[in-house]
Amino acid sequence: MSQHVVFVGAGDSNLSVLKNWKKRKLKDTTWTLVSPSRYQYYSGMFSGYTEGRYSIEDIRIDLKSFCKENGGRFLKGKVTAVDKRQKNVLTDSGKSLSYDILSANIGSTHEKPNVPGVKDYALFLEPNGQFPSAAEKLQQTEYPVIRGGDYKGVEIALSLQEWRKKHHMKTPVTLISNGPVLENEKEEIRDNVLTLLDERGIMIYENISVERIDQDVLYTENHVIPYGEVLWITGPTPPLIFQYAKLAVDEKGFLLVSSSLQSLDDSSIFASGACVTLSDYPDMLKNNSYMRKEASVLEDNIIKTLKGKKKLKTFTPPKKRELVLNLGHKKGLYIKGGKYSLDKSSWKLKKRMDKQFIKQFS
Ligand SMILES: Cc1cc2nc3c(=O)[nH]c(=O)nc-3n(C[C@H](O)[C@H](O)[C@H](O)COP(=O)(O)OP(=O)(O)OC[C@H]3O[C@@H](n4cnc5c(N)ncnc54)[C@H](O)[C@@H]3O)c2cc1C
Repeated sequence: MSQHVVFVGAGDSNLSVLKNWKKRKLKDTTWTLVSPSRYQYYSGMFSGYTEGRYSIEDIRIDLKSFCKENGGRFLKGKVTAVDKRQKNVLTDSGKSLSYDILSANIGSTHEKPNVPGVKDYALFLEPNGQFPSAAEKLQQTEYPVIRGGDYKGVEIALSLQEWRKKHHMKTPVTLISNGPVLENEKEEIRDNVLTLLDERGIMIYENISVERIDQDVLYTENHVIPYGEVLWITGPTPPLIFQYAKLAVDEKGFLLVSSSLQSLDDSSIFASGACVTLSDYPDMLKNNSYMRKEASVLEDNIIKTLKGKKKLKTFTPPKKRELVLNLGHKKGLYIKGGKYSLDKSSWKLKKRMDKQFIKQFS
């Protein structure tokens, strides 16, 4: 009897599995990819896009063509419910799809905390398709503010400042960080990045909480900061559908999966990427350098399950964390384990990696 695999979300590992699907030559198996937009925008290239180095076409994957090319079906929609007993999912347009195996790779969202005014006035990174228009607003406004001092905020602030400098915009980008900028990195890296932010003319507010946002100004305990547009970036928060489906989640709400990347409650549900917490490695960071390694395990395990095999592969996170950032003006930051370099070759590496990533799905 024919089996149907539903891939929910066009995250990195689902796409990696699908690009190899035809090679697996599976009989009597069909698949559908469900994602809210026809395009998947690659967040690793958002900073290059903001700086003006990439066009929209450079940073996005056309999912409809990708699915056709790789022998499956694309369904535009957001999955709003998973019924694990009936083995089907429901989308926001009311479509119901049944599955034998489900693979969720829906990313995380960003907190939209209860700071008054945030929901009304701030720009967000999700859904990721709205980033290009957010970037354009930040480029054009007189007072752009990035709220978020982790690597994403730093990348966007520096590349935005570069774009504005090239386009003779005189007012600086402001970066506001709840804690220290890049607080998870060692002091030497932080110092170097802070110096760079300063040299490029970015206004930095560290250890500052935004308490309220009005239409043109935001308020912290001791400052009133004018803004034209504010991009609100904070730590990842989980999507809610797993909780609604009564699947086991961690204390924050991320789906709990075993090292075979299966839900602890339901072996027909696989999941990977930023929407999950691995029960064996609960502290693993939700960033691509770890998550990309999940794809080959996910692929093998889905195929084995379809073939009725019981012994599955297990995922082990790489020992050393690897992060490559674009700091604008052909400068990059490469961190691996305890070592780092901040130079042009790191920027070249980042450019090469990002282009290779997107090319494999085009
Ligand atoms: C500016 C920026 C720069 C970054 N740079 C780096 C970097 O250099 N290195 C690094 O390691 N990480 C980086 N990241 C973080 C990294 O991109 C995220 O951790 C990553 O995108 C998560 O990947 P994912 O594959 O889990 O899901 P995503 O890439 O977020 O994809 C999830 C997909 O699922 C879809 N989806 C969501 N909900 C549903 C639903 N209910 N139904 C159906 N589909 C759904 C989404 O629309 C999306 O298409 C960066 C992030 C940002 C914002």
